[in-house]
Amino acid sequence: MIVAEKFGKVTQIKMGRDYEGRVLYWVAAYLVDSLLIDTGCSYTAEELLEFLEDKPVKQAFITHYHEDHIGGCALLQEKLNLKIWSNPKSLPLIGNPPPFYPYQELVWGHPAAAEIEALSGNELTTDLYTFKAVNTPGHSSDHTVLIEPDQGWCFTGDLFVAEKVKVLRADENSKEIMESLQKILCFKTNPDLDLTLFTALGKVVPRGRKAITSFLYYLGNIQKEAERLQSEESLNTEETVIKLFGGESTLTSLTDNHLSCKNLLESLLKNKPAQA
Ligand SMILES: [Zn+2]
Repeated sequence: MIVAEKFGKVTQIKMGRDYEGRVLYWVAAYLVDSLLIDTGCSYTAEELLEFLEDKPVKQAFITHYHEDHIGGCALLQEKLNLKIWSNPKSLPLIGNPPPFYPYQELVWGHPAAAEIEALSGNELTTDLYTFKAVNTPGHSSDHTVLIEPDQGWCFTGDLFVAEKVKVLRADENSKEIMESLQKILCFKTNPDLDLTLFTALGKVVPRGRKAITSFLYYLGNIQKEAERLQSEESLNTEETVIKLFGGESTLTSLTDNHLSCKNLLESLLKNKPAQA
């Protein structure tokens, strides 16, 4: 299933596999001028192609190697002759991804191989806009956001999806996530505009700086409170998860523990910031 919505000059294309009458999980790509940012999963590649056939799209950029972002690449390249770019770090990961969990096979499927080129330098231009590619590891080591400084747009991929998250993937690094969010906050953009965040889960956030600051504050608080609960009240990890999150997420059993509150907690405790 595919649903498109305009946000000013930016078109959001939300996609998800229709499974027994409902979408299991939405993921958003964005079309700006002639640039497509991310391409959804393999199950929605045909629908994305159909949507783009009468649009002026010439190139695509992939925020990171995950299968729900690169699934449309091969078909779009074949049928629309798109040039597809990524961070150089994405190429080996796309070529040799870690084994899939069963939920990933069910929800997103395996992307067909496409010829993706490493972006040299950190700039991507269209006729109307100039985007800066900013390496923002944490969600994945190759993760890259695109910022259009004059317009105050930030395409956050999966780095920022909400001001509060309860679960993390087993391979995510919370310290790097926090550093990458700080990097976005420090990035110089049009001083007359706030930063608008276009997230890969489909949320568009007009007051982006406040939202990122609030997310950082939330993560810092969880970190401090978890430390306190474990040192002062001697709670173990499971007990801390119950105290902080009201118990483990329902996603945890559905994803064979790939996504969990425990992952978030352990990553925060393992990657404590340096003491001031
Ligand atoms: Zn991802």
